[in-house]
Amino acid sequence: MYWTDYHMHTNCSSDSRATLEQQAEAAYRAGIAELCVTDHWNLLDQQANPLPHHYDWAISMANWRRARERFTGRVEIRLGIEVGNGVLDSAAVDRSLELPELDFVIGSLHNQSAAAGGRGIFTVARGCKTRADCVALLEDYMDTLDALTDTAGFDVLGHIIYPLRYLPPQYELDLKPWWDRLAHMLQKVIRSGRGIELNTTQGETVEQWSGLLRLYRDLGGEILTLGSDAHRPQVVGAAIPQAGALAQAAGFRYIAAYRRRTPTFIKLD
Ligand SMILES: [Zn+2]
Ligand SMILES: [Zn+2]
Repeated sequence: MYWTDYHMHTNCSSDSRATLEQQAEAAYRAGIAELCVTDHWNLLDQQANPLPHHYDWAISMANWRRARERFTGRVEIRLGIEVGNGVLDSAAVDRSLELPELDFVIGSLHNQSAAAGGRGIFTVARGCKTRADCVALLEDYMDTLDALTDTAGFDVLGHIIYPLRYLPPQYELDLKPWWDRLAHMLQKVIRSGRGIELNTTQGETVEQWSGLLRLYRDLGGEILTLGSDAHRPQVVGAAIPQAGALAQAAGFRYIAAYRRRTPTFIKLD
C-alpha cells in the first residue's frame, strides 16, 4: 500500500523542533511513501493575540526543496500548510495561498470565536470545570467551523474532533448532539469539491473518527486524507494503516493525496 501522511509539522511551526529531513527520514522508516509538510500558520495565539495575516514562505520553501531533492526515490515530499483560524481574514489567507508550488491546505480551528474571547481551544478545554463549560465551548466551535466551511482557503477541513482531544474525559463528550449541524457543514465541503482529514493525533485518535467518517461517506463524501499531526519524528506515520482500515470499514475505497491543490486518489487495498 502506498501510505501517505498528510499532516505533520517541522521547526517552521512554533511547537515543533524537528527538521523536515528528520521527519522525512522517520516517514521512510515508518513505511510512508508520501509525506506532506503542513506547518502552522495561525492567525491567533493561545492568548487571543493576533499573529501576522501574511505567511512568509521563504524558509518553508527552501526546506521543502532541499528535502524533496534529498529524499527522491525514497519519500515523495509535498508542500502544504495548516491554516489556523483562517476564517478571521479569509481574503488575506487567499492571498498568501497564491503560491504555484503549494500542493495542499488544511483549514483548522485552534481558537474560540472572537465573541467568545478568541483564546486557544487547547487552553480553554483543559480549564473547563463543568459539563456546561464544555458544551459552551463545543457550541462556539461548531459556529466557527460552520463559518470556516464558507471560506475558500482550504482543501480539507482539519481535525474536526479537535476539542475532544483536550476536554476533561470525565464528561465523556462526543459530537453527536451536533450531528445535524456537522452534516450541513460536510455537505458544504462536499459540494465545493473539498474534503476532510482523518487525523490520528500522533497515533492516539483513530476509533473516535468512526461515526464521523460514516456520516461523511453517507452524505457522498469521497475526499479523505490521512494525517498523523506528528510534531516529532517518533510519531510520523503513527496509526496511518489503522486509519486506512477504519476508512475502508466506513466505505471509502480511496484516500486522497494532492498535487497543486488538486486531489488525486490512491486505492485502499
Ligand atoms: Zn491543528
Ligand atoms: Zn497540525
